[in-house]
Amino acid sequence: MQRILSRGEIEGLERNALPRLRLPSREVFAERAARLRHLAGGNSLGEYLALMARLAQAQHEALGAFTAPLPDENRLSLAHTHGMPPLPCEGPLEGCWREALRAVLAALSGQELGDAPRATVARLEQTLSAEPQRLDALAQALLAGEEPGDVAAAPFLMAALQVYWTERASRLPEAVVPAVVPSRVCPVCGSLPVASVVRVGAASDGLRYLHCGLCASEWHMVRVKCSHCEDTRSVAYHHLEGASEAIKAESCDACHSYRKIFYQEKDLEVDAVADDLASLTLDVLMGEAGYGRASANPLLWFA
Ligand SMILES: [Zn+2]
Ligand SMILES: [Zn+2]
Repeated sequence: MQRILSRGEIEGLERNALPRLRLPSREVFAERAARLRHLAGGNSLGEYLALMARLAQAQHEALGAFTAPLPDENRLSLAHTHGMPPLPCEGPLEGCWREALRAVLAALSGQELGDAPRATVARLEQTLSAEPQRLDALAQALLAGEEPGDVAAAPFLMAALQVYWTERASRLPEAVVPAVVPSRVCPVCGSLPVASVVRVGAASDGLRYLHCGLCASEWHMVRVKCSHCEDTRSVAYHHLEGASEAIKAESCDACHSYRKIFYQEKDLEVDAVADDLASLTLDVLMGEAGYGRASANPLLWFA
């Protein structure tokens, strides 16, 4: 008698056929900087996007100048056995993240900045040498999603944390990353996604990936499914009239939240973090329609 595969076996086959994970490229910040420079032209938030472009460029330079140790094999295999992220965003923060901050600030000091960002950079450089532990506390509060005590410093601290996590994620062997369930959080670091991107090309063509706001890894999630509560019954798409067709908001009436979704087939250069920042008008529209953002943009903080 012919043996038919069980449901679990079929799902297993599907998992193997799809590239479930896209670990970050070491060019991610350079590409983001270029995208932000492009988006800054003609945007009502142009000045802010231009500053974020300089920050992303500084992140790129810092990534090239900095190496953080990966967890040892025992810790990696323990995490894998328990289905835990190998580079967890929770728990104690290793002091070497401050090397990433030092490198980001050094790269920024060579760039043209406005008076306010220049003062923030100088203040952070001073704290870095005088009371580095205070920066650890600020960084951990940001990672925990708490309201930042220092709103002006938050994007710079978060940028350094992104470099610290992305640098390690880019060198991680894919086999050590477990298939984390639920798929609402990043399988590499456990953070929330900032948005999702429907990719084009090769094996990922037409597949939707959630993009991690911290380590820039991407993981697969089927389309037309709420990336916050995984409901599939009341997902809807919203689009700003006259805006790029590459940008939509995916809303869910089960949890009343939304995340943006970007379509590479409409615009090859979309970047989850940059395009999210450049489309805040869509956030206003979604707020007026009664939906809340499922997670924040790591470079945008409010008091
Ligand atoms: Zn991550
Ligand atoms: Zn939902």
